[in-house]
Amino acid sequence: MGRSVLVTGGNRGIGLAIARGLAAAGHDVAVTHRGSGAPEGLFGVQADVTDSEQIDAAFKQVEEHQGAVEVLVSNAGITDDTLLMRMGEEQFTRVLDANLTGAYRVAKRASRGMLRAKWGRFVFISSVVGLSGGAGQVNYAASKAGLVGLARSLTRELGSRNITANVVAPGFVVTDMTDALTEDQRAAALAQIPAGRYGEADDVAAAVRFLASDEAAYVNGAVLPVDGGLGMGH
Ligand code: NDP
Repeated sequence: MGRSVLVTGGNRGIGLAIARGLAAAGHDVAVTHRGSGAPEGLFGVQADVTDSEQIDAAFKQVEEHQGAVEVLVSNAGITDDTLLMRMGEEQFTRVLDANLTGAYRVAKRASRGMLRAKWGRFVFISSVVGLSGGAGQVNYAASKAGLVGLARSLTRELGSRNITANVVAPGFVVTDMTDALTEDQRAAALAQIPAGRYGEADDVAAAVRFLASDEAAYVNGAVLPVDGGLGMGH
Protein backbone atom coordinates (compact mmCIF):
# COMPACT_ATOMS: atom_id res chain seq x y z
CA MET A 1 0.00 0.00 0.00
CA GLY A 2 1.38 3.38 -1.00
CA ARG A 3 1.96 5.75 1.93
CA SER A 4 2.50 9.48 2.13
CA VAL A 5 6.21 9.90 2.94
CA LEU A 6 8.34 12.91 3.83
CA VAL A 7 12.14 12.71 3.90
CA THR A 8 13.97 15.71 5.36
CA GLY A 9 17.18 16.51 3.49
CA GLY A 10 15.98 14.22 0.72
CA ASN A 11 17.48 16.38 -2.01
CA ARG A 12 20.90 14.67 -1.92
CA GLY A 13 23.08 12.04 -0.25
CA ILE A 14 21.54 9.40 1.98
CA GLY A 15 18.19 11.22 2.09
CA LEU A 16 17.88 11.13 -1.69
CA ALA A 17 18.65 7.40 -1.79
CA ILE A 18 16.02 6.83 0.90
CA ALA A 19 13.48 8.90 -1.03
CA ARG A 20 14.19 7.09 -4.29
CA GLY A 21 14.01 3.71 -2.58
CA LEU A 22 10.64 4.47 -1.01
CA ALA A 23 9.29 5.87 -4.29
CA ALA A 24 10.39 2.68 -6.06
CA ALA A 25 8.46 0.70 -3.43
CA GLY A 26 5.29 2.49 -4.52
CA HIS A 27 5.01 5.29 -1.95
CA ASP A 28 4.25 8.97 -2.59
CA VAL A 29 7.47 10.65 -1.54
CA ALA A 30 8.12 14.30 -0.77
CA VAL A 31 11.53 15.68 0.17
CA THR A 32 12.63 18.87 1.86
CA HIS A 33 15.38 21.01 0.35
CA ARG A 34 16.86 24.36 1.28
CA GLY A 35 16.74 25.98 -2.13
CA SER A 36 18.30 23.37 -4.42
CA GLY A 37 14.87 22.48 -5.82
CA ALA A 38 13.32 19.01 -5.98
CA PRO A 39 15.28 16.13 -7.47
CA GLU A 40 13.86 14.76 -10.73
CA GLY A 41 10.63 12.83 -10.16
CA LEU A 42 10.16 13.74 -6.48
CA PHE A 43 7.88 16.33 -4.89
CA GLY A 44 10.00 18.99 -3.20
CA VAL A 45 9.15 21.42 -0.42
CA GLN A 46 11.49 24.09 0.85
CA ALA A 47 12.21 23.95 4.57
CA ASP A 48 15.04 24.43 6.99
CA VAL A 49 14.51 22.10 9.95
CA THR A 50 15.74 24.80 12.34
CA ASP A 51 12.64 26.88 11.50
CA SER A 52 9.22 25.71 12.79
CA GLU A 53 7.29 28.04 10.50
CA GLN A 54 9.01 26.72 7.40
CA ILE A 55 8.35 23.18 8.60
CA ASP A 56 4.65 23.89 9.11
CA ALA A 57 4.37 25.45 5.63
CA ALA A 58 6.17 22.47 4.08
CA PHE A 59 3.86 19.98 5.81
CA LYS A 60 0.82 21.90 4.54
CA GLN A 61 2.11 21.63 0.96
CA VAL A 62 2.75 17.92 1.39
CA GLU A 63 -0.71 17.40 2.89
CA GLU A 64 -2.32 19.14 -0.09
CA HIS A 65 -0.24 17.19 -2.57
CA GLN A 66 -0.37 13.64 -1.19
CA GLY A 67 -2.25 13.64 2.12
CA ALA A 68 -1.01 13.73 5.72
CA VAL A 69 2.48 12.38 6.30
CA GLU A 70 2.30 8.71 7.32
CA VAL A 71 6.02 7.96 7.14
CA LEU A 72 8.48 10.58 8.38
CA VAL A 73 12.17 10.04 7.72
CA SER A 74 14.15 12.57 9.75
CA ASN A 75 17.43 12.56 7.87
CA ALA A 76 18.62 16.18 7.60
CA GLY A 77 21.87 16.64 9.47
CA ILE A 78 25.17 18.46 9.64
CA THR A 79 28.61 18.03 11.13
CA ASP A 80 30.91 20.73 12.48
CA ASP A 81 33.84 18.80 13.91
CA THR A 82 36.55 19.99 16.23
CA LEU A 83 38.00 18.93 19.57
CA LEU A 84 36.07 19.97 22.68
CA MET A 85 38.86 22.35 23.73
CA ARG A 86 38.26 24.39 20.57
CA MET A 87 34.50 23.92 20.18
CA GLY A 88 32.57 27.12 20.67
CA GLU A 89 29.15 27.01 22.31
CA GLU A 90 27.52 28.24 19.11
CA GLN A 91 29.19 25.37 17.23
CA PHE A 92 27.71 22.92 19.71
CA THR A 93 24.19 24.33 19.79
CA ARG A 94 24.01 24.83 15.99
CA VAL A 95 24.60 21.11 15.38
CA LEU A 96 22.16 20.13 18.13
CA ASP A 97 19.57 22.52 16.70
CA ALA A 98 19.73 21.00 13.21
CA ASN A 99 20.20 17.33 14.10
CA LEU A 100 18.19 16.86 17.30
CA THR A 101 15.83 19.81 17.79
CA GLY A 102 15.12 19.66 14.04
CA ALA A 103 14.03 16.03 14.46
CA TYR A 104 11.79 17.02 17.38
CA ARG A 105 10.20 19.79 15.27
CA VAL A 106 9.33 17.58 12.31
CA ALA A 107 8.26 14.65 14.50
CA LYS A 108 5.91 16.86 16.49
CA ARG A 109 4.35 18.27 13.32
CA ALA A 110 3.96 14.79 11.79
CA SER A 111 2.53 13.21 14.93
CA ARG A 112 -0.81 15.02 14.57
CA GLY A 113 -1.71 13.32 11.30
CA MET A 114 -0.40 9.96 12.45
CA LEU A 115 -2.52 10.07 15.59
CA ARG A 116 -5.58 10.94 13.53
CA ALA A 117 -4.82 8.09 11.09
CA LYS A 118 -3.95 5.69 13.93
CA TRP A 119 -0.94 4.60 11.86
CA GLY A 120 2.53 5.99 11.45
CA ARG A 121 6.23 5.36 11.01
CA PHE A 122 9.03 7.56 12.33
CA VAL A 123 12.55 6.74 11.18
CA PHE A 124 15.39 8.84 12.59
CA ILE A 125 18.79 8.76 10.88
CA SER A 126 21.36 8.68 13.66
CA SER A 127 24.96 7.47 13.34
CA VAL A 128 27.30 4.82 14.67
CA VAL A 129 29.07 7.60 16.60
CA GLY A 130 25.86 8.32 18.53
CA LEU A 131 26.65 5.15 20.46
CA SER A 132 30.42 4.84 20.13
CA GLY A 133 31.34 8.53 20.32
CA GLY A 134 33.78 10.17 17.95
CA ALA A 135 36.84 12.28 18.72
CA GLY A 136 36.14 15.81 17.50
CA GLN A 137 32.41 15.12 17.39
CA VAL A 138 31.09 16.00 20.85
CA ASN A 139 28.31 18.05 19.24
CA TYR A 140 27.43 15.59 16.46
CA ALA A 141 27.62 12.43 18.61
CA ALA A 142 25.49 14.04 21.33
CA SER A 143 22.86 15.00 18.76
CA LYS A 144 22.82 11.50 17.29
CA ALA A 145 22.64 9.82 20.72
CA GLY A 146 19.78 12.16 21.56
CA LEU A 147 17.77 10.73 18.68
CA VAL A 148 17.73 7.35 20.44
CA GLY A 149 16.12 8.82 23.56
CA LEU A 150 13.72 10.80 21.42
CA ALA A 151 12.63 7.76 19.38
CA ARG A 152 12.28 5.51 22.41
CA SER A 153 10.19 8.09 24.26
CA LEU A 154 7.97 8.44 21.20
CA THR A 155 7.65 4.65 21.15
CA ARG A 156 6.37 4.73 24.73
CA GLU A 157 3.98 7.59 24.00
CA LEU A 158 2.56 6.34 20.69
CA GLY A 159 3.35 2.63 20.50
CA SER A 160 -0.21 1.56 21.24
CA ARG A 161 -1.56 3.54 18.25
CA ASN A 162 0.09 1.55 15.44
CA ILE A 163 2.85 4.12 15.36
CA THR A 164 6.48 3.03 15.43
CA ALA A 165 9.60 5.10 16.01
CA ASN A 166 12.93 3.58 15.09
CA VAL A 167 16.50 4.71 14.61
CA VAL A 168 18.88 3.78 11.83
CA ALA A 169 22.55 4.14 12.72
CA PRO A 170 24.69 4.20 9.58
CA GLY A 171 28.44 3.76 9.69
CA PHE A 172 30.71 5.35 7.10
CA VAL A 173 28.63 6.10 4.00
CA VAL A 174 30.07 7.65 0.86
CA THR A 175 28.40 11.10 0.46
CA ASP A 176 29.39 14.78 0.42
CA MET A 177 29.56 14.57 4.23
CA THR A 178 32.32 11.94 4.22
CA ASP A 179 34.01 13.42 1.13
CA ALA A 180 34.97 16.25 3.48
CA LEU A 181 37.23 13.89 5.48
CA THR A 182 40.96 13.57 4.81
CA GLU A 183 42.43 10.51 3.07
CA ASP A 184 44.00 9.45 6.40
CA GLN A 185 40.66 9.68 8.22
CA ARG A 186 39.01 7.59 5.50
CA ALA A 187 41.70 4.93 5.56
CA ALA A 188 41.50 4.72 9.37
CA ALA A 189 37.72 4.24 9.16
CA LEU A 190 38.02 1.53 6.51
CA ALA A 191 40.47 -0.45 8.64
CA GLN A 192 37.79 -0.69 11.36
CA ILE A 193 34.96 -1.96 9.13
CA PRO A 194 34.54 -5.77 9.19
CA ALA A 195 32.69 -5.66 5.84
CA GLY A 196 35.87 -4.29 4.29
CA ARG A 197 34.14 -1.52 2.41
CA TYR A 198 32.44 1.80 2.96
CA GLY A 199 28.64 1.89 3.00
CA GLU A 200 26.52 3.11 0.12
CA ALA A 201 23.48 5.34 0.56
CA ASP A 202 21.38 2.49 -0.84
CA ASP A 203 22.46 0.26 2.08
CA VAL A 204 20.77 2.75 4.41
CA ALA A 205 17.77 3.14 2.11
CA ALA A 206 17.05 -0.61 2.26
CA ALA A 207 16.87 -0.54 6.07
CA VAL A 208 14.55 2.47 6.03
CA ARG A 209 12.30 0.80 3.46
CA PHE A 210 11.85 -2.13 5.82
CA LEU A 211 11.16 0.03 8.89
CA ALA A 212 8.59 2.04 6.93
CA SER A 213 6.71 -1.06 5.80
CA ASP A 214 3.63 -2.78 7.20
CA GLU A 215 5.84 -5.83 7.86
CA ALA A 216 7.83 -3.84 10.45
CA ALA A 217 4.76 -3.21 12.63
CA TYR A 218 6.28 -4.96 15.65
CA VAL A 219 9.71 -3.33 15.41
CA ASN A 220 9.52 -0.35 17.72
CA GLY A 221 12.15 1.68 19.58
CA ALA A 222 14.94 -0.22 17.82
CA VAL A 223 18.34 1.04 16.79
CA LEU A 224 19.26 -0.67 13.53
CA PRO A 225 22.96 -0.40 12.64
CA VAL A 226 23.82 -0.22 8.93
CA ASP A 227 27.56 -0.06 9.34
CA GLY A 228 29.22 -3.22 7.99
CA GLY A 229 29.88 -4.23 11.60
CA LEU A 230 31.80 -1.05 12.51
CA GLY A 231 29.89 -0.39 15.73
CA MET A 232 29.42 -3.95 17.00
CA GLY A 233 29.27 -4.34 20.75
CA HIS A 234 27.63 -1.02 21.53
P1 NDP B 1 24.93 15.31 3.21
O1 NDP B 1 25.81 16.35 3.80
O2 NDP B 1 25.29 14.69 1.90
O3 NDP B 1 23.41 15.84 3.14
C1 NDP B 1 22.84 16.45 4.25
C2 NDP B 1 21.39 16.72 3.95
O4 NDP B 1 20.79 17.35 5.11
C3 NDP B 1 21.21 17.68 2.78
O5 NDP B 1 20.04 17.34 2.09
C4 NDP B 1 21.04 19.01 3.49
O6 NDP B 1 20.31 19.98 2.74
C5 NDP B 1 20.22 18.58 4.69
N1 NDP B 1 20.25 19.56 5.77
C6 NDP B 1 21.30 19.90 6.54
N2 NDP B 1 20.93 20.85 7.43
C7 NDP B 1 19.62 21.10 7.20
C8 NDP B 1 18.67 21.97 7.79
N3 NDP B 1 18.98 22.80 8.79
N4 NDP B 1 17.41 21.96 7.31
C9 NDP B 1 17.07 21.14 6.29
N5 NDP B 1 17.92 20.30 5.69
C10 NDP B 1 19.18 20.28 6.14
O7 NDP B 1 24.85 14.20 4.33
P2 NDP B 1 24.54 12.63 4.26
O8 NDP B 1 23.61 12.32 3.17
O9 NDP B 1 25.84 11.93 4.36
O10 NDP B 1 23.81 12.46 5.67
C11 NDP B 1 22.42 12.32 5.83
C12 NDP B 1 22.15 11.93 7.28
O11 NDP B 1 22.83 10.72 7.57
C13 NDP B 1 22.66 12.97 8.28
O12 NDP B 1 21.75 13.07 9.35
C14 NDP B 1 23.97 12.37 8.74
O13 NDP B 1 24.31 12.80 10.02
C15 NDP B 1 23.65 10.89 8.71
N6 NDP B 1 24.81 10.02 8.63
C16 NDP B 1 25.70 10.10 7.58
C17 NDP B 1 26.79 9.24 7.54
C18 NDP B 1 27.78 9.25 6.44
O14 NDP B 1 28.79 8.51 6.57
N7 NDP B 1 27.59 9.98 5.37
C19 NDP B 1 27.01 8.27 8.61
C20 NDP B 1 26.03 8.27 9.66
C21 NDP B 1 24.97 9.12 9.64
P3 NDP B 1 21.07 21.00 1.74
O15 NDP B 1 21.27 20.28 0.44
O16 NDP B 1 20.13 22.15 1.65
O17 NDP B 1 22.37 21.38 2.40
